[in-house]
Amino acid sequence: MPQKVQRVKGVNDILPQEARQWQALEHIVKQVMDRYAFGEIRPPIFEKTELFARGVGEDTDIVSKEMYSFSDMSKSSLTLRPELTAGVVRSYIQNNLQQISPVQKLWYEGPMFRQERPQKGRYRQFWQFGAEAIGSPNPEQDAEMIALFYTILKELGIESSVTLKINSVGDGESRALYRSSLQEYLRPHLSLLSETSQKRFESNPLRILDSKAPSDKELVRDAPKIRECLNKASATHYAEVLKMLEAMDIPYIQDDLLVRGLDYYTHTIFEFTSDALGAQDAICGGGRYNDLVSELGGQDVPAIGWASGIERLLLVVDALQPLKADSGLDLFLIVQGEDLRVKAPKLIHEWRRAGLRCDMDTLRRSMKAQMREANRQEASYVAILGEDEFGQGIVQLKNFKTGEQEAVSFENVASYLRSHGS
Ligand code: ATP
Ligand code: MG
Repeated sequence: MPQKVQRVKGVNDILPQEARQWQALEHIVKQVMDRYAFGEIRPPIFEKTELFARGVGEDTDIVSKEMYSFSDMSKSSLTLRPELTAGVVRSYIQNNLQQISPVQKLWYEGPMFRQERPQKGRYRQFWQFGAEAIGSPNPEQDAEMIALFYTILKELGIESSVTLKINSVGDGESRALYRSSLQEYLRPHLSLLSETSQKRFESNPLRILDSKAPSDKELVRDAPKIRECLNKASATHYAEVLKMLEAMDIPYIQDDLLVRGLDYYTHTIFEFTSDALGAQDAICGGGRYNDLVSELGGQDVPAIGWASGIERLLLVVDALQPLKADSGLDLFLIVQGEDLRVKAPKLIHEWRRAGLRCDMDTLRRSMKAQMREANRQEASYVAILGEDEFGQGIVQLKNFKTGEQEAVSFENVASYLRSHGS
């Protein structure tokens, strides 16, 4: 026997029953994005590797060790997108979206690819939905972005078990000031830092703040706070964001150690975490990236965005407040008599065209087996069709719950079910 082919490590099959949950979530996301006036964008799944190297940053975990890169026939290096901010910004620049309006509010959903160690809530192909607002430098844009995700959490009914952590890394001037004050603080203890942090000491010392190594954590606890190094403009921006969140009743905690993994952030950064998850507790992360558009060759345009992991979000939703996904059929057609098997498709075709969710057996199974199938598919009604019924142009409609039965003509089935609330 030929060997079975297994799926690649760290990727998932989303089977129909689970896909119902996904669809329910996607429905909420689309509706909320619509209410906040974000338009959907669908960039390609792969891009030139250079885009991520420049856009995400050579020194990040993503670019330094997680990318799925390959070369195509023309020998250009391409990469399966590990995230979508860089792709959205590339698309914004290439399509001159700023000409359509000075603020572009875009959202997306789709699979991302990162070669990391698979575990619960961490996969090699995973899905994100996210939003980017490109064009406004002002704090009200930050507040709107955060409110957008918070509203999705509210619609899912899980907002009270999710924590919003927020911090500001300020503008370039503030960050440079903080960088040297952090280095000054750490320098005497350099040999105590983990190997990774020692490497980052020169290239990206801020990342040492979110190191998981116990010795680093210990040291970092008493490190100077970035908040204390913000210049006036950065401090004002941050204070205004917090004020607007308070006015909207969006709870937050300030996390001085929050820096996030990507290089491109400026000013506000944030993360939503849930304690319903284990170690992989972040369900959404984002922040302002005022320099990215110009660094990728566009004009000097400020922006802010976030991305949320769908698998992780669904793990939280499942644990706390499972989504109601109505999976049952309206009707299952049960055919009695071999001659009617070829008549059945036209009948059910008409009902489907009339908007009913219905199914029938195509294995020519017994009446009993058809009943079992109707039950398995949670049909509200069964329509029983025998020779007599066919002759009269009717079916026996039986309510699966109450057992009540009534003869209804073929063309009245849809309206009957509608008025009886299947
Ligand atoms: P983490 O700290 O868990 O590695 P991250 O900072 O790498 O997350 P982002 O790049 O900000 O994550 O991506 C946004 C969101 O995408 C995360 O908050 C998480 O919900 C989800 N996510 C990231 N990586 C994965 C993955 N490998 N598998 C599943 N979901 C992921
Ligand atoms: Mg990561």
